[in-house]
Amino acid sequence: MRRDVSDYSSKLDTSKLSGLLGIPVHRISGALKRKTLQYAFSKPELFRFDKPVSKIEGGTSVFTGTYDIVRGFPKISRAVMLDPALRQHFSSCKKVAVEEKMNGYNTRVALVGDKVFGLTRGGLVCPYTTEKARKLVPLDFFRDNPDLVLCGEMVGPDSPYVPKSLYGIESLEFFAFDVRKKMTGQPMPVIKRRELVEGYGIRSVRLFGEFYVNEAHAEISRIIRELGKTMHEGVVIKDPDMVVSPVKYTSSESNCSDLKYAFEFYNDYGRDFFFGRVCREAFQSVEWDEDGKCLEKRCLQLGESILLPMVKTIKKRKAGERIAEDVRIRVMRLETVAEFEEYLRILGVDAVFGEPEKVGDEYLVRIKKLYKSTTDKTGSILNGGMWS
Ligand code: ATP
Ligand code: MG
Repeated sequence: MRRDVSDYSSKLDTSKLSGLLGIPVHRISGALKRKTLQYAFSKPELFRFDKPVSKIEGGTSVFTGTYDIVRGFPKISRAVMLDPALRQHFSSCKKVAVEEKMNGYNTRVALVGDKVFGLTRGGLVCPYTTEKARKLVPLDFFRDNPDLVLCGEMVGPDSPYVPKSLYGIESLEFFAFDVRKKMTGQPMPVIKRRELVEGYGIRSVRLFGEFYVNEAHAEISRIIRELGKTMHEGVVIKDPDMVVSPVKYTSSESNCSDLKYAFEFYNDYGRDFFFGRVCREAFQSVEWDEDGKCLEKRCLQLGESILLPMVKTIKKRKAGERIAEDVRIRVMRLETVAEFEEYLRILGVDAVFGEPEKVGDEYLVRIKKLYKSTTDKTGSILNGGMWS
């Protein structure tokens, strides 16, 4: 039997960490006790902040072997009514930089000791992401900048978390959108960051341009409508100096596509996921002054995104199927498959791995992620069970 995570607290030098992070020892001991700072069954060994503590973001990782610290990636607020939100949020800025918000999964790439690792949003070392990061990010970047963390989106169809084929990517690619100080999380100005990564041949997310704050809303509305046509997700609007925090804004098409995905696994997703997305549609419709045909089209799209995937799920379950999602990974080393399987097991993800298929000099592995809660709930209702 596995020991409780709190048994591992002795592995952490709390006074050393207090010095490094600049927060009192009692806050760290308290966080350990409440398990907001917890041992992760990971290689290399680490503790991670599950939620924010003092000024330390959730997702911050502390590696106990080397005491490398990688700060968590901060939450990005969402604009709902674009025009007033931009004027208010960026009131101290003259201009904003508008970058594409790509739809993949957040990855921080950093040196731990003398090796590169790929961290997920929660602050865990993902073996698959690490293999990809080592392949996609030149080591020179970290040889020259050991104190920096490279933040970006892993995008493409060979993704175990957010598989997307809309970008025309063959497997999985990394797109940088932030460079920060590893220890403090301090971000680099937008243009400086883009030039820095470009110098190492690392791709960045698309930059649409810099716009005056009071004119940005019209430009962004136009960009969003264009992006929506090809199911692209949206934009992140940034202070060019990165002093004011960024804001995200997304297209209705990608919003509906999220709903369509999540309603297929309706009982495994939190209710908040659905509610926020439905409300955004209403505000955007009012801001864009829609009525008649436009509003009708939006209603139909929203309704279809909710009902069609659920109907599909119910029919599948009625036919005796378990509700699952098919994803795939593509690796160079078979060891990565075993490590990734163990990683998902520790996370409590119920997944069935297929046999590796050789594709060129890599292996493709199909994975079935099982959604137990949706499977059970749908089955029970089909058998006459009550909703609650
Ligand atoms: P949050 O915790 O910020 O609310 P979330 O998990 O709900 O995030 P998203 O709604 O996808 O995620 O929005 C934030 C995420 O967008 C970032 O964590 C990052 O992974 C991703 N992203 C994609 N493109 C960019 C970009 N150009 N700049 C910043 N983040 C980007
Ligand atoms: Mg995302």
